[in-house]
Amino acid sequence: AVAAQNPWQNQNKIPGIKRIVAVASGKGGVGKSTTSVNLACALQHLGAKVGLLDCDIYGPSIPLMMGIHRKPTVTEDETMMIPPVAHGVKVMSMGLLIEGDSPVIWRGPMIMKTIQQFITSVAWGELDYMIVDLPPGTGDAQLSLCQTVPLDGGVIVTTPQEASLGVVRKGIAMFEKVNVPILGIVENMSYFTTPNGERVEIFGHGGGKSEAERQKVTFLGEIPIFTEIRIAGDSGVPIVVSAPEKPAAKAFLQVADHL
Ligand code: ADP
Repeated sequence: AVAAQNPWQNQNKIPGIKRIVAVASGKGGVGKSTTSVNLACALQHLGAKVGLLDCDIYGPSIPLMMGIHRKPTVTEDETMMIPPVAHGVKVMSMGLLIEGDSPVIWRGPMIMKTIQQFITSVAWGELDYMIVDLPPGTGDAQLSLCQTVPLDGGVIVTTPQEASLGVVRKGIAMFEKVNVPILGIVENMSYFTTPNGERVEIFGHGGGKSEAERQKVTFLGEIPIFTEIRIAGDSGVPIVVSAPEKPAAKAFLQVADHL
């Protein structure tokens, strides 16, 4: 069982880090990591100093999406890890520490310890924002992570059809349990625009917005299905960096404005 209180509440935050925002989702594959990397790069684009912490220990995809292949180095006194920087964003991920494709088979306590070290033993320096990519889901594991990292706010990513399944409500409940303010809902894969400009709503549309209204939380925006978002992710250059003028990138920049 997990304590109902966020132990970090009213305590000193991580020195030098102004605002820590977690990105959560009900399940995998809805675009949580895509949103995390693009929000981090969007904030950087908007002039902020940004860190990106990948807490998706079992399936870390952030290094690939940010195009990082080198391991963190250590400080001269060997007490702290220095996070690699990609597109101006400092990044730390389990994916940077494990060898090759070996899967991580750790149990909960070890994961918590690793995440704690990502907070205390990484030389993040001065940051305006830290974006935390949570593992997919809204269960106890994610809840414990929300207590391990001193969060200032949470964003929930959903697809239109997932929004109607109570997933958003579960995400809200998770953040509320640990007193983390909910910044709002992002609807990803909202719609698709065909080459001749026709708008197709593949997964339906508006589920995120109507669920946000029902739950009385902010609707942060909708991200279209856009082939270049996927290509950008695979190539290690998020769309906000590679093509900030595209509507899909602008959608991320608008969400970042709310953080
Ligand atoms: P999650 O972190 O929720 O598991 P990912 O961010 O890894 O999901 O996204 C799953 C896959 O879908 C990735 O290949 C990603 O590039 C792709 N993807 C996510 N959002 C979009 C989008 N709006 N348009 C096109 N592809 C997307």
